[in-house]
Amino acid sequence: MISPAPSSTDIAGRLGDIQARIAAAARAVGRAPDSVTLVAVGKTHPAEAILAAMDVGQRVFGENRVQEAQRKWPPLRARCPDSRLHLIGPLQTNKVADALALFDVIETVDRPKLARALGAAMAKSDCRPACYIQVNTGEEPQKAGILPAEADGFIALCRDEIGLPVQGLMCIPPIAEEPAPHFALLAEIARRHDLPVLSMGMSGDFETAVRLGATHVRIGTAIFGERPPQS
Ligand SMILES: *Cc1c(COP(=O)(O)O)cnc(C)c1O
Repeated sequence: MISPAPSSTDIAGRLGDIQARIAAAARAVGRAPDSVTLVAVGKTHPAEAILAAMDVGQRVFGENRVQEAQRKWPPLRARCPDSRLHLIGPLQTNKVADALALFDVIETVDRPKLARALGAAMAKSDCRPACYIQVNTGEEPQKAGILPAEADGFIALCRDEIGLPVQGLMCIPPIAEEPAPHFALLAEIARRHDLPVLSMGMSGDFETAVRLGATHVRIGTAIFGERPPQS
């Protein structure tokens, strides 16, 4: 069962609750609350839901599909020019130019072919979105992301050889596992490479992620409600 879509008031209230929980989790480990950015994940939700979040000051958003963002976001950008949009879903190389034009951050750089396509497209464009490298910390065959054992080499390729503006790392832990070891592994790889950004933590585990150093948490359901299942 899908519950009814939340109202603007619901969305505003939930955003406030989540910001408070992020702040409490940060303070509990001696971190400044403003060291964590909430990325509000609007995928599948209508533009009105995102506007409700913008109206109460939310500025950073995530979408997982280029085509959906292309449809939904031009009027939202016009309405809120200082909003920032993160791509958090898989990127096909034939959509790289579209993604550069749409997104401020690409969180899912996960293979050499994509990294090279991004490098080539950036060389021909004025757009230079920040890049995060997605690490498949659970080594799940069906999941995107570079394997932990290949992360060092891939980070060097992206940053030093191709020259991408790599700011940090992103992971999605396996659904059925305790997320903390995955967050700790991601933090360890980032530390090794002096990367300041750690995008980790979703609706069910963001407080754990903040305790382990997340600088960005990606939260959808807890703000906008349940999504219909995606194909
Ligand atoms: C959908 C999605 C999220 C948000 O998940 P919720 O559980 O709804 O908070 C975070 N990260 C990625 C990569 C996603 O695709």
